[in-house]
Amino acid sequence: MQISIWEKQSFFSRRDFIIAGAGLAGLWVAYELKKKFPEKSVLIIERNIIPAGASTRNAGFACFGSPTELLHDMHLLGEETMLQTVEFRYKGIEKIKQTLAGTDIEFDDCGGYECITRGITDLSSLQEMLPALNNLLQTVTGNSQTFAWCNQRLKEFGLNGFDALIENKAEAALHSGKLVYNLTRLVQRMHVDILTGVSVKHWSHNNSHVEVDCSYTFVEGNVQHISLLAGQLILCTNAFTSAIAPQHKVAPGRGQVIVTSEIAGLMLKGTFHYDEGFYYFRNLGNRILLGGGRNKAFDEETTNSFDESDIIQDELERFLSQHIASGYNYTIDYRWSGIMGFTDNRQPCIKKLEKNVYTVTSCNGMGVALTPVMAEKLVTQLQEN
Ligand SMILES: Cc1cc2nc3c(=O)[nH]c(=O)nc-3n(C[C@H](O)[C@H](O)[C@H](O)COP(=O)(O)OP(=O)(O)OC[C@H]3O[C@@H](n4cnc5c(N)ncnc54)[C@H](O)[C@@H]3O)c2cc1C
Repeated sequence: MQISIWEKQSFFSRRDFIIAGAGLAGLWVAYELKKKFPEKSVLIIERNIIPAGASTRNAGFACFGSPTELLHDMHLLGEETMLQTVEFRYKGIEKIKQTLAGTDIEFDDCGGYECITRGITDLSSLQEMLPALNNLLQTVTGNSQTFAWCNQRLKEFGLNGFDALIENKAEAALHSGKLVYNLTRLVQRMHVDILTGVSVKHWSHNNSHVEVDCSYTFVEGNVQHISLLAGQLILCTNAFTSAIAPQHKVAPGRGQVIVTSEIAGLMLKGTFHYDEGFYYFRNLGNRILLGGGRNKAFDEETTNSFDESDIIQDELERFLSQHIASGYNYTIDYRWSGIMGFTDNRQPCIKKLEKNVYTVTSCNGMGVALTPVMAEKLVTQLQEN
C-alpha cells in the first residue's frame, strides 16, 4: 500500500522533533519542547494504542524516596549524587502541582511512610543516621525534619508486624492514569501531534534530517512501513530502548501490583514503603494497592514480559495478609504488571546518543517525580547544542 500525497503532507509530514514513546518521559519532553520552542513542530510516536510500559501501570506515588533507600543510594553513589536525585524528585512533584489541576489527577497530599522491621533493617544504626540524613535533605526540602519517627501510628493504620514507622509529609499520591491522560490532553492543546499504534524500528541520517523508520498495522493485520523525517529524534522508550538502540543499555525490571476489593472501615491512609522501596502500598479510596517484591526473584523479573508470575503474586498476597490487611475481608480485584527501566548506577539517563538523536530513559522506578525535571534538562541540553 502506498501512502497518499494528502497523508504525506499532513499526518506524515516532516517534524522538527519526533519523540518515540508516549509515557511520562515522552509527554513531559513534548511539553517542555513546546514551552521553549512554541513555533517548532512536535510529533509523538507511540507503538501501542495507549502508552504501555510503566507510566499507566505503576503505583501512583509522588515520592522522592524512603530513608533506607536514600541511605543505600548514599552509600553506593555518594552524598552529592543522592542529593541531586532527591532534588530532581522534589522539584518534579512541585512541577506536577503547578502544571496540572490537583483534582484532575486526584493529587492527594496524604504523606508517605516507611515501615521498618528489625530483621531487614538495623534499627539502631538507622536511628543514629536519620538526623544526619535530615540535615542533608534540609537543603532540598527546606524542612529540618523531612523524616520523623511516628511508631505510634502503626496501630492507627492497622499495620502489623513492623517495628517502627517514619513519616515524610512531603510525599503524595496521585492517579497515574489520569496523570498521563491529562498530560496527553495538555500537550495536544499545545499542538503536539500523537500517532498511536506506530512503532519506531530504526533510523538513519540524511543530510540534516533523521529518517525514522516505523511500522504500523493497516486494516486487519496488514503491516506497513513508513519513513518519517525529523530534525531531531528523542527516544523516550525506557525499558524497550535497547531493542532499537542496542548501544544504549537499559535493564528491564518488571513490577507487579495487586489491588483489593473495597474494604469497609479500612484504616490505611497514605503511601507506604518497605525494604528500601522494594515493597510499596497505599490506599486507593477503600482499597489497598500493593506492589513490589521484585527482590524475591530478581532474575525472573528482569524481563520485558507483561505476564504476572506465581512467585511474586503469592509473595504479594502473603505480605498483604500478614502486614496490611489481617482482620479484613477482601478479594483481589486487580492484578497487573508494568516494566521499569534500570541503570547500573541507579541514575536517570539523559543522553545524546548520536548527532540529532537523544534518549531520556531509566527512571529506576521513580519516574512520576523524575520525568518532569528530566525533560527540562534534556531541553536545556538541546538549547546548548
Ligand atoms: C509496578 C510499577 C510501580 C511503579 N510505581 C511508581 C511510583 O509509585 N512512583 C514513581 O515515581 N514511579 C513508579 N514506577 C516507575 C514509573 O512508572 C516509571 O519510572 C515511569 O513511568 C517511566 O516513564 P517512561 O515514559 O520513561 O516509560 P514508559 O512509561 O515505559 O513509556 C515508554 C513508552 O514507549 C513506548 N515504546 C516502546 N518502544 C517503542 C517503539 N519502538 N516505538 C514507539 N513507542 C515505543 C511504550 O509503549 C511506552 O508507552 C513504577 C513502575 C512500575 C512498573
